[in-house]
Amino acid sequence: MPSRTPQEVAAHAAAAADLPAVDAGVADCFACPRLVAWREEVALVKRASFRDQDYWGRPVPGFGPADATIAILGLAPAAHGGNRTGRIFTGDRSGDVLFAALHRAGLANQPTSVAADDGLTLHHTRIFAAVRCAPPDNKPLPVERDTCAPWLHRELDLIRPTLRVVVALGAFAWAAWWPAMTAVYGGRPPVPRPAFGHGAQVSVAGAPDLLGCYHVSQQNTFTGRLTPAMLDDVFADAKRRAGLA
Ligand code: SF4
Repeated sequence: MPSRTPQEVAAHAAAAADLPAVDAGVADCFACPRLVAWREEVALVKRASFRDQDYWGRPVPGFGPADATIAILGLAPAAHGGNRTGRIFTGDRSGDVLFAALHRAGLANQPTSVAADDGLTLHHTRIFAAVRCAPPDNKPLPVERDTCAPWLHRELDLIRPTLRVVVALGAFAWAAWWPAMTAVYGGRPPVPRPAFGHGAQVSVAGAPDLLGCYHVSQQNTFTGRLTPAMLDDVFADAKRRAGLA
């Protein structure tokens, strides 16, 4: 059943019994008018280099196993990446960098992520975004973040039995973690709230550890602000905290 209001998002997320139900509910969500219009316009107009492809043009669910010990929390799908292919971080430069690093870390079976049917499998790791629709200029509004939060919170709730560490890609994801942690784990954020930074770490009793990592955007990777070695260090730390190394 489609979700067309914040109240329906909250109700449908709460009623989702498992991850496939969350994923199906996310894909059938229309609760943010601005983002619905944008995702559909991008899917219609397309980028010239993808003009022969059918865009997904819908919200993008999480990806990875239900018994993940590591979660990677991003901002939102890319207009011509996840919004095109239907899989998060798939088909864009950010994904190229992220999945190459996950493959080096032994958390992905292949270093590339180009299409939803490309055979990519994640090990111990689930990836999702704080906002599930591609936003204009990669900037969701606070109301859109809040409307989408129940999907994130329910997804976290369902992987809670195994989840040990969350890697927040960028300051937006870092900020989205605190209400998620309170909603899912009942944990109180430290006061003052820890600032985002690459390499920042927060441990709150009863909740997964939080690691800060610069976003894998071209803005960061092309300029050298975020290097493959820096990503390798983050995922090595995440694996240690998850009991995988
Ligand atoms: S951003 Fe989230 S709540 Fe808003 S329409 Fe997309 S999936 Fe639904």
